[in-house]
Amino acid sequence: MGAELEIKDLHVTVEDREILKGVSLKVKNGEIHALMGPNGSGKSTLAYALMGHPKYEVTAGDVLFAGESVLEMEPDERSRAGLFLAFQYPVAIPGVSVANFLRMALNARAPAGENGNGKKGISIPKFRKLLKEKMALLEMDSSFAGRYLNEGFSGGEKKRAEILQMAMLEPAIAILDETDSGLDIDALRIVANGVNTLAGPGVGVLVITHYQRLLNYIKPHFVHVMLNGRIVESGGPDLALHLEEKGYDWIREMQENGGA
Ligand code: ADP
Ligand code: MG
Repeated sequence: MGAELEIKDLHVTVEDREILKGVSLKVKNGEIHALMGPNGSGKSTLAYALMGHPKYEVTAGDVLFAGESVLEMEPDERSRAGLFLAFQYPVAIPGVSVANFLRMALNARAPAGENGNGKKGISIPKFRKLLKEKMALLEMDSSFAGRYLNEGFSGGEKKRAEILQMAMLEPAIAILDETDSGLDIDALRIVANGVNTLAGPGVGVLVITHYQRLLNYIKPHFVHVMLNGRIVESGGPDLALHLEEKGYDWIREMQENGGA
């Protein structure tokens, strides 16, 4: 539907320090992109800037979603438009179940009158049906929906909640920022299965990770490497294999030796 994401020469400053120094990247529907790079290179800064976190100030460049700039949009407007950002550090909400949370998330962006009784939001039967469908698709146990969100969740369960949220919101573009610590194999597999299941012709995915090994499970169409706030290398899946073999040092060396 042309709801692609286009990042154009994006410069982002955090606390008066320029972190992103001109990032350009296009994610079309149906494509899986992996953004990799060493710690501190600016990957999470890009994710936060894309969602409109107030601390991340865009000083130059633009972000177009479906052809329109999102820079003046609030984070919730971006979400309603079809951009999804999985939180790198999801919070626990005591007393709120996974299902409740998902219903709030859907209601927050459903058009008024959706449930037919003048109230805003999705009706309970509609919601239950959708939840059941999505949980079956992701092969999740139905008891998971009744758990309190993130309370005592393992790393894998947090990821499950995140992926389920993505499935329910059906975004046109999903950005998944994977932490550089605490992602065990179980969690990696859940994220990868989720992305592989939910990716499709109408969805573009940007997976951000420090870990080459995530790409043993997700097969991206494009791989990009970020270094010091810039994308310094882009390629196909073979670039990920190369990184797995050689790490990031060869990219650093290439940069220092006047490449680019
Ligand atoms: P990555 O995700 O690639 O590890 P980050 O985007 O988290 O990199 O960080 C890039 C740089 O920006 C780092 O030097 C980091 O200290 C800085 N930075 C990112 N977010 C903040 C913040 N909220 N406050 C201060 N500095 C930040
Ligand atoms: Mg990060």
